[in-house]
Amino acid sequence: MKPSKSITRAFCVELQQELSIVAARREYFSQEPPRARFNFLCSSEACRAQGVKITGVRYDVKPQENPTFVAAHFRANPNYEHHVDCEWVDEADTGDDKPEASETESETALRKVKRKLDDYIDVFDPALKERAKSEAVSAKPDKVIEEKPADLTPVSDTPKSKPPTETRTNNLERLVDSFRQAQAQLTKEEFALLTLRIPGQGEVSLRSYFRHIKFAQLGDERRVLYGGGLVERYGTGFKFKFFDRLQGKLVTLYVSPAQMQAYRSSRYISELLSHAEEVRFFTVFALGTLAASPSGKSVSVEIDDLRHLAIVLGPAKAANGDERTPPAPA
Ligand SMILES: [Zn+2]
Repeated sequence: MKPSKSITRAFCVELQQELSIVAARREYFSQEPPRARFNFLCSSEACRAQGVKITGVRYDVKPQENPTFVAAHFRANPNYEHHVDCEWVDEADTGDDKPEASETESETALRKVKRKLDDYIDVFDPALKERAKSEAVSAKPDKVIEEKPADLTPVSDTPKSKPPTETRTNNLERLVDSFRQAQAQLTKEEFALLTLRIPGQGEVSLRSYFRHIKFAQLGDERRVLYGGGLVERYGTGFKFKFFDRLQGKLVTLYVSPAQMQAYRSSRYISELLSHAEEVRFFTVFALGTLAASPSGKSVSVEIDDLRHLAIVLGPAKAANGDERTPPAPA
């Protein structure tokens, strides 16, 4: 059978684990060059046993602002049939836009919008499990548990149609990719329909969970702050300076060399920052708190964990100039 749902996870043969495309991208760029592409199999065991391949698209391209935004995503390989029990096959879902019997009008509208995205996130859990520093160098990546949908238990009395699974993650970069695709490819009205559930915080609109730095407020700490800016390196650490000011004050985000050294994906961050000379700016997304400096002259974005930081490359510098066009607030 052919999958009818967006495939949001696959089994990576080289890493011997299931991961999202964003996690695959991070692992790809964490390799020492020359980097090898990965082979993916379907995440459903019945398919995997039959060697059903999945294609990973654009995970070998760094996240970058681009007028023709194409999100990294998984795609079914047309040469393979999936098992009837595959989690991405849904016999009840015919792919048409007819409302389902139990749906309200707004649920139908939301379902149609979700289908336009490669990786729609229902639940984002910002809580990170504490890990000892010694684990930071461990070769075992941390995404097997985090990327699982909340519920994979089939409902026994309706064997034909699988229950809708929720996409749940604590991977900020994955949420950022989904947000960027929604921003780039949906209309304003469609974008406004999208919601996100945050454990302990309830349901918010996806748009309101992201706040451009120029609209941020001190003490307002339960959102993803983002904005364009430039980076200064401090050894392996760095300081990011946002272009936009907050109440007239410079906003920075500092990551110390020690924080970088303790982070298992620091090579990926360094790889992104190594393009500083070629791009007009970086866009930083951070789940942190805003703190005024002791002098009161500047504001810093403080993050507890580098997993709460995502970096996107700005467009390449034009040959004839260096115009700055950081992304507009959503
Ligand atoms: Zn499958």
